[in-house]
Amino acid sequence: MEHRGSTRREFLAITGASTLVLSLHGLGFPGGDAEAAEKIVYDWDYGSWEELHREEWTWDSVTYGTHLVDCYPGGCSFRVYSKDGVVWREEQAAGYEVVDPSAPDWNPRGCQKGCAYSHMMYNPDRLLYPMKRIGERGGGKWKRISWDEAADLFADGLLDAIEKEGPESIIFEPGPGNGGYLHLVGLFGLMDRIGATNIDLNATIGDFFKGLYETFGKFKFMDSCDAWYHAKVIYIWHQNPVYTRIPAYHFLSEARYAGAEIVLIAPDYSPSAIHCDEFVPVAPATDAALALSMAQVLIEENLIDVPFVKEQTDFPFLVRTDTERFLRGSDVEDGSPEDQFFLFDPARGNLVEAPRETLKLPVDPALDGTYTVQLHDGTAVEVRPSFAIFRDLLDRDYTPEKASAICDVHPDTIRRLARKAGSANGHVMIANGMNGPKNYHGDLIERAQCLLVALTGSLGKKGSGVGGWSSAGFSLEALLPDLAGRKRMEEEIRAEDPTMTDEMVLREIEYRRGRMGLGPVPPMFLYYFHSGYKDAWDRQAWHDPAMKRPFGEYMREAIDKGWWQGRVRPAPDQEPKAYVYFATNPARKNRGWWKNVHESLWQKYEFICGIDLRMSTTCLMSDLLLPAAGFYEKLDVRFPTPHVPWVTLTEKAVQPPGEAMAEWGMAELLTARIVERAKERGLTKYTARSGMEYDLEAGGGLPAGLGEETMLDLLLGANAAAGVLPEGTNVEQLRKAGKVRFTRIPTEANIDAANLATEIRPDEPIVPLTLHTGDKKIPYPTYNRRIQFYIDHPWFIEAGEAHPVHKDSPKMGGDYPLQMCHGHQRWSIHSIWVTDTNLLRTHQGRPFVFMNPEDAAPRGIEDGDLVRIFNDFDDFKIHVKLAPGPRPNGRLGRGQVIIYHGWEPYQFENWKSYDSAIPGMIKWNDMAGGYGHLEHYTDNWCNEPVDRPIAVEVEKA
Ligand code: SF4
Repeated sequence: MEHRGSTRREFLAITGASTLVLSLHGLGFPGGDAEAAEKIVYDWDYGSWEELHREEWTWDSVTYGTHLVDCYPGGCSFRVYSKDGVVWREEQAAGYEVVDPSAPDWNPRGCQKGCAYSHMMYNPDRLLYPMKRIGERGGGKWKRISWDEAADLFADGLLDAIEKEGPESIIFEPGPGNGGYLHLVGLFGLMDRIGATNIDLNATIGDFFKGLYETFGKFKFMDSCDAWYHAKVIYIWHQNPVYTRIPAYHFLSEARYAGAEIVLIAPDYSPSAIHCDEFVPVAPATDAALALSMAQVLIEENLIDVPFVKEQTDFPFLVRTDTERFLRGSDVEDGSPEDQFFLFDPARGNLVEAPRETLKLPVDPALDGTYTVQLHDGTAVEVRPSFAIFRDLLDRDYTPEKASAICDVHPDTIRRLARKAGSANGHVMIANGMNGPKNYHGDLIERAQCLLVALTGSLGKKGSGVGGWSSAGFSLEALLPDLAGRKRMEEEIRAEDPTMTDEMVLREIEYRRGRMGLGPVPPMFLYYFHSGYKDAWDRQAWHDPAMKRPFGEYMREAIDKGWWQGRVRPAPDQEPKAYVYFATNPARKNRGWWKNVHESLWQKYEFICGIDLRMSTTCLMSDLLLPAAGFYEKLDVRFPTPHVPWVTLTEKAVQPPGEAMAEWGMAELLTARIVERAKERGLTKYTARSGMEYDLEAGGGLPAGLGEETMLDLLLGANAAAGVLPEGTNVEQLRKAGKVRFTRIPTEANIDAANLATEIRPDEPIVPLTLHTGDKKIPYPTYNRRIQFYIDHPWFIEAGEAHPVHKDSPKMGGDYPLQMCHGHQRWSIHSIWVTDTNLLRTHQGRPFVFMNPEDAAPRGIEDGDLVRIFNDFDDFKIHVKLAPGPRPNGRLGRGQVIIYHGWEPYQFENWKSYDSAIPGMIKWNDMAGGYGHLEHYTDNWCNEPVDRPIAVEVEKA
């Protein structure tokens, strides 16, 4: 089948040919079936390629565009140039206004992936038509079908599942790879409407910063990138910004020009090292020991900000030495609340209740000492401020000399790093990326990092803090179908506890919705009860030795105690039947997908549907494929983040190729068809296991029939009316400017925005947490309403993790000498660009592993060799790139091999990628609950299968 259109400048320049085969289905990837191929041929009427070159700087249209992908922070504004229905090129728009005249400006923003998107959108693996599998699943044979037929198959696949096992047996897995904002909401609305089990995205990609969350009661607080310029000491720690923060990296180097010192702390001489003042090679996953030791030096040498520590943290709170639990109101007075904590006033020699409604201190509390208090039952117990206990712990276990033996950093270096932090006057910034959350003891690493910024008062100031990730911005209210229900809930919560802050109330609403079975769930229960992950998680030897009981017992306890009420979906005896994934590539991303998922869970699904731009490995293993419109083929905005505090528009520059469709329209079509088919079956009303009743005819989910432009206008208008965006903001205006800066953070309306706890000033960077650290003194949303460094949950006490400590990473995969580590690669965002021919030409164009020559030589491995990497879990093959950057094992021990991720499994032999050797463990403590903020809601407190470091051996293949 041929479609006539035009062609692109790059193709002409290279080949001078007169036609361009734009895309072939079933070809260009393994298992392709030539007979099922569908061609789109673009040609033109210019007469010759020379003539077209003469016209190559003329366009039919110039529009704004961005890339609707989680290339955090992303949202770069581009100009998109189109001619004859094809996007020819894009360039950075460079139209960002000056915000802070004392700091460098933002222009231009972009990276090489963004600049290559117009090439990628015409890549041969682009999906163009709805297709259904013919023959065996994974056999590579496809048949093009109409959207009508596809909608029927989709509706029947889901309705069959509902009939057989209930709506929770439909698993919906969204991803960070596409969709934008509005379109994502469209598909979410559809899945909510039918009662599917919506998998928490953050739990599948491993970007939940659990240590930050444990400490601050949240992790979505983030400055704008221009704030980095004001830092005095920057520790790049678990981040590789030269690869992963390309559009914003300049703020780091400009900070250095302005006098900041930049220290890279990493096991390898990473690509970011060359731009730093100092490189500190730390042994993999021992960062907590290093940070704790720096904390020990800060305290010992009186380099800490004592008033900040007393006011903002729980360090002055009294802890009973007999039970290791906080002294509580219920201990001291019958009927007093369990979550009332105490300070000791040394001036008067008595206990003082820690205020719950403010951080403002009533007295100057003790950080030291041991005191005796009388309990309401007449007994006397000994109590100490948490700080005193912690200092003893640091002095005992984490002096620089002792920590050095763990983290392999010289004691003098540890002291020097600590003194740098102590002399930065509260402007210490830890630039951390998404590496911490992917470690088994990532929470301990992050809690120890948090210590450094809290002890030095480096929070709430320009150029300070420890970052996570944030999608804060828009008020979602305009799109919430049950706004009235939320308001009712809010009133109830405020009546129950008037001391709750707005932030706590908004989060409590999320908790209660979760307990009712609403909202996404972490996939932990799906994986444990229905997939092969159970076998890995039940292997005691791959867990921390402090896990005293079998993993399954902790899981049972967590469920029985109701800590996950409403989130155990599907139920253990409810077989998953249908699987829909969107903008994600689970066969690449799920840890150990072949063993953990394909052999078990994948076989249980009777219907698997992928919604994607391109033929990924997961698509190749599916039953039905729905082609989505690309980033320049639909109207939307990139999900906003405070890192880049503009709403950035992307426009429909051209029609999607073939019959690809924008997801909003797709959601409307599929919703209508589901309702129609359900009526035919008499299945419009049904009840979920949770007791939730669904009525497909009653509507809900998403506003239907409005179209994406009207919806976007409504969303922008609602935010403009609320003062979140400038007055009068609408789609038409955005079409002229491409972006618009936020004017207010809707902390009252949106939990993500509330987590920022700050206000926007017109000519200042965004600095989070100022509502806590500034004059307002609003409490943190932790269990004890302070920055919480002591967690007296029984599981944490049992594990010896009530205070932050270091623990060696368990040998996940077995007893092997090398540690396999990962990071985001430079040439693709996830796997979206990983097959782009231009980008593949910039490196080896095939998967490769970095290995130190010192480790390669004794194994007889040379540069370019194919090697087998294996452990007790599984193996895979990959080519070697020798480089001195990875930490060598032979000389130092705890050496690494490094694979930057994103490769398609089909680029490996037998489609077995590096993920094959990752068992995907989760830490048992991540299942804890019944303790204030340790409860799940979207993106938060979601345990995640970890992927580093993994114990492996390497041999020549
Ligand atoms: Fe910016 Fe992301 Fe696009 Fe790169 S891919 S230019 S970081 S929006």
